[in-house]
Amino acid sequence: DESLWMEGLDIVRKLEASGHRAYLVGGCVRDRLLGRALHDIDIATSATPDEVIALYARTLPTGLKHGTVTVMEGGRSYEVTTFRQEFGFTDSRRPDQVAFVQDVREDLARRDFTFNAMAFGSAGEIVDPFGGQDALRAGVVDCVGEASERFGEDALRMLRAIRFASELDFMILPEVWQGIIEHRPKLSLVAMERVSAEWDKMIAGSGPEQACHYLFKSGLLVHVKDTLPETFRQAAERYRFNGMPAEWDKWGMDFTDDGSMGNLMQLPSISDPDLRWAALLSGMGVNEEDSSDLCRALRFSARRVARISGLVGMNEQLKLNEEDELWESWVLTVLARGRSLAEDWLAMSEALETEFWTEAKQWLEEMPVVAISDLKVRGNELSAYLGKAPGPWITEVLKDLLEWVAFGEVPNEKQALLKAAENACDEAGGTD
Ligand code: ATP
Ligand code: MG
Repeated sequence: DESLWMEGLDIVRKLEASGHRAYLVGGCVRDRLLGRALHDIDIATSATPDEVIALYARTLPTGLKHGTVTVMEGGRSYEVTTFRQEFGFTDSRRPDQVAFVQDVREDLARRDFTFNAMAFGSAGEIVDPFGGQDALRAGVVDCVGEASERFGEDALRMLRAIRFASELDFMILPEVWQGIIEHRPKLSLVAMERVSAEWDKMIAGSGPEQACHYLFKSGLLVHVKDTLPETFRQAAERYRFNGMPAEWDKWGMDFTDDGSMGNLMQLPSISDPDLRWAALLSGMGVNEEDSSDLCRALRFSARRVARISGLVGMNEQLKLNEEDELWESWVLTVLARGRSLAEDWLAMSEALETEFWTEAKQWLEEMPVVAISDLKVRGNELSAYLGKAPGPWITEVLKDLLEWVAFGEVPNEKQALLKAAENACDEAGGTD
């Protein structure tokens, strides 16, 4: 977005006009050079947070301790952060101490990857002390300084390395890969929310299959804080050691399709991230319950947990059935799971080119009813017609009616439904 970039530069100029130094930095510079869409703008400046606050009408003290102020201008917000150095990462996650500095190069040195450690000035100059532009041209993920040291400081960077490699379709340099292998146990020090945010971005990004390849081959996931379901771990470990050469730690630096990927290669053709998760888990042979456990370990919302694991469950249900029973099995699955999940399943299956998705789509369109609310009779009408006091029996009868109508055994008309209900109750009464 050109105007976002230009307005960011206006903020830089205003800081400069007040005697400070300022630059656009980090992800926006990287994405601008790559010609990718910008989603937010970060600005680094020699001005202190107090000086930034004094300069703009509307600000938020987002992270004063670390020097960050959010500036709101023209309906947008910009993170403005004072040039700083970071020291002493005793928890392998955060600096114990930060110090404000005067030179943008010192600020760039604390950043994770060379392509994230560039600054763009108001005169159009690029400050690039670590070869970020070279890395972009070569298509490699390289750390600022020693990879091993940088991952030891902050274990989250291992996931960020994999996220950028997969998102940008870049190669992870050997020393960077070695750094991940060396420090992977430290992933247990990272909060699950952060692991989840990174992993979820990878799945939603442009290289979910590469992300999974790196995550599994590196053995990182074994070390996350919460225990992941056993079936998931086993599948990930199987993938990790599949075709492993003797120097197994080197395997996986470069993403190649070795043919053992299952449906990983098809993930990018699915557009909804939840559907990608479901396809991934199904493809790995993780069942509904374990999928639900994994999603909960990742702190996904209840709605996402139900959606993802529900789709996995549908796959399981449908796979169990013989071909000649597919229609029946599909109708029962739709009744059990509802229209919305059925439509999700169709979207996922279309992308995966699942064998009978076109038939299933047709069958769904032809179903006269999908939910009890589609029936042309209400519970109170049943109770009045049959002269029976309302009770749990109503739901049971409605469920039976739903199934009969869905299978075309009873038309969806009030009189026919009341008659069918009467028969159902007689039968139930007769067998009592
Ligand atoms: P995106 O926003 O596309 O995820 P980004 O590079 O902008 O990518 P942010 O998390 O927004 O990532 O961080 C902004 C910048 O801050 C990064 O470009 C990098 O320079 C620096 N940075 C972020 N996280 C870390 C980290 N864990 N270690 C070192 N530097 C980091
Ligand atoms: Mg960003």
